Amino acid sequence: MRTLQGIAVSPGVAIGEALIVDTEGFRIPRRFVMRDAVDDELQRLDNAVDAVGTEIERKRDAVTKQLGEQYGAIFAAHLQMLRDPSLHREIEDLIRNRHYSPEYAVSRTLRRFAKVFQDLDSVYLAERAHDIFDIERSLLARLLGERREELTHVTSPVVVLAHNLTPGETASLDRKFVLGFVTEIGGAGGHTAIVAKGLEIPAVVGIGPFLTELSGGEVVIVDGDHGCVILQPDEETLARYQHEAEEHRTLAVQLKELRDLPAETTDGVRIALHANIEFPREVQTCLDRGADGIGLYRTEFLYLGATSEPTEEDHCNAYAKVIREMSGPVVIRTLDLGADKLGQLPQEEHNPFLGLRSIRLSLRNLPLFRIQLRAILRASVLGDVRVMFPLISTLADLRQAKMVLTDTMEDLEEAGIAFDRGIAVGMMVEVPAAVLMLDRFLKEVDFISIGTNDLVQYALAVDRSNNHVADRYQASDPAVLRMLDQSLRAAQAADVSATVCGQMSGEPAFTMLLLGLGLRSLSVPPSAVPEIKRICRSVSIPACEQVAHRALGMESAREIETYLRQELRKVAPELVLS
Ligand code: PEP
Ligand code: MG
Repeated sequence: MRTLQGIAVSPGVAIGEALIVDTEGFRIPRRFVMRDAVDDELQRLDNAVDAVGTEIERKRDAVTKQLGEQYGAIFAAHLQMLRDPSLHREIEDLIRNRHYSPEYAVSRTLRRFAKVFQDLDSVYLAERAHDIFDIERSLLARLLGERREELTHVTSPVVVLAHNLTPGETASLDRKFVLGFVTEIGGAGGHTAIVAKGLEIPAVVGIGPFLTELSGGEVVIVDGDHGCVILQPDEETLARYQHEAEEHRTLAVQLKELRDLPAETTDGVRIALHANIEFPREVQTCLDRGADGIGLYRTEFLYLGATSEPTEEDHCNAYAKVIREMSGPVVIRTLDLGADKLGQLPQEEHNPFLGLRSIRLSLRNLPLFRIQLRAILRASVLGDVRVMFPLISTLADLRQAKMVLTDTMEDLEEAGIAFDRGIAVGMMVEVPAAVLMLDRFLKEVDFISIGTNDLVQYALAVDRSNNHVADRYQASDPAVLRMLDQSLRAAQAADVSATVCGQMSGEPAFTMLLLGLGLRSLSVPPSAVPEIKRICRSVSIPACEQVAHRALGMESAREIETYLRQELRKVAPELVLS
C-alpha cells in the first residue's frame, strides 16, 4: 500500500481498478508481455519503426521540395534518432529481458533520453527533447493503432490515472464507468477541477509524477475529500473507505429532503441559490438538487470537444434546452475561451491567463461574438434570460461588448426576429482592476457576478491550475476578503444585485462569511446546492455578520480558514471534514 498526497478538487470516495492514461491521451494497455510472445513483439516494434521512418522520409522529401534542403534536414535529424542503434538496443533489451511491452519499452526509453537532453545546461539541447517526444508519439500511435483506446470508450468501471486531463477530456468522461480520476499536474482552480465537480466525479489533481510506477489494473482509492490517493490498499484501509463512501451516500439522502425548501435563513432572509453549469444536460441535476436558477452557464464548453465550429443554431438549441427546463433565471455568460480551456488562439502564449482570453478573444473575433449574441438574444424570449460578459478589466471592454450587443439587437430588429430588448446585462468581477473601478462599472450594468476563481489568481498572482503554487491559491486570503467586502459594499450602495459564482461560493466553510458580507445570491456547482442550502437554513444574518467582521480583522489565510471551519462546525458539524 502507498499513499500519495495531492489536491482535493471534487469530493467523494472512489474505489476501483486503475486505468492509466499517459501523456497525449495514449493509454498503454499492457506493460508486460508473455515470455513466448517476445519475438512477435520485437517484430511489431520493427514494423512500427519502419513505418514511422517511411512517414518521416515522406515528410522530409515534401519539405525539401518546397523549402529546400536546409528545412528537410530537420527531419533527417528525426530519422537519425529513430534509427539510432543504441536506442534500438535499449528498447529491445527491455522487451527481451524484462518482458516489457513494446509500447512501454518505447515510452520508458525515449523519455529517459529526453530527460538527459532536458537536464543539459543548454536551451538548444533542451528543445531537442521535444523532437524525442515527437518520435515517441509517432511510435506509440503506430504500435497502439487500433488498440489505442479513447477515454470516451471506457466500458467497465475504472479509476482514471493520467498525467493531465484537459477540461474537454474531463467533460467527455462517462460518469457510469469513470468512478474517479487522479492527475499528476493541475491545480484547485483549473477548469478540469471545475468540470470534475460538475460531473460529481471524485478527483485529486497535482499529485506529481507517479504513473511510471504503475502498470494498470491495481486497486486504487481516490479520496476526493482529503486529496489523497491510495495505491493497492490493505484490507483495513479498504474497509474504512468503503464505510466512508457509505456515509457520503447517507448524507446525500438526508440532504435530498431539502430539495423543495427555500434557502432561507433562520431570521427569514431569502437567499437566491443558483447553480453553475457547463452543459445543458446538467440542468436536470440542478433541478434534482433544488437550485433556484442558473447563475452561470459557461458556454465555452459548447466549443470543447466539438468537431466543427458551433453555428448560431447550435448555440440557440443549447440555450433553449436550458431555459425551457429551468423555471428560474438563466445567466448565459459569453465565451470564456483561451487560457486553460482550448480556444482558437492565433499563437501559443507564454502567459495564457494574461493573454488573449475570454472577452478579449470575443472582441477580437467579432463574427464569432455576434453569432453567440444573436443566439442569446433569440433565446431571450423563452424565459428569464440574462447575458454576462467575462473577464472585464476596463470600462472600454464593457462598453465595447455592450456596443456589439446593441448592434446585434439592431440586426435582429431589422430582420424582424423577436428578442427581449430589456435583457439584463451583467459582468463578471474577476480582475482586481474591476474591483477598484467598480463604482463606475456599476453605473453601466444590471448585475455583477464575482468570479473568485480568477479573482484569487489575479489578486495573489498565483496560476489557478499550477500545482507547484497550489498552496498559495487561497480564497481565504485576507486580501481576497477585502476585495469581496469592497465589491459587495459598492454593489449595495449602487443598488445593483451581486452574486458570487466562483467555486468559493460552493464551499460550506465560506457560506457564513459571504452572507455576513451582505451577499444574498450565490451560484454554486450543482452538487453543492444541498449543502449550501442546509447552511443557509441553519444560520441567522446577525450571526453571519459577526463571523464576517471577525474574519475581516484576521491577517492570514490559514487563520481565517481555521476560524471559518470552527464556526461551520457549530451550525453544520456533518459538513466539516475531519
Ligand atoms: C471565476 O473565475 O470565478 C469563474 C466563475 O469563471 P471561470 O471559473 O469559468 O473562469
Ligand atoms: Mg473566471
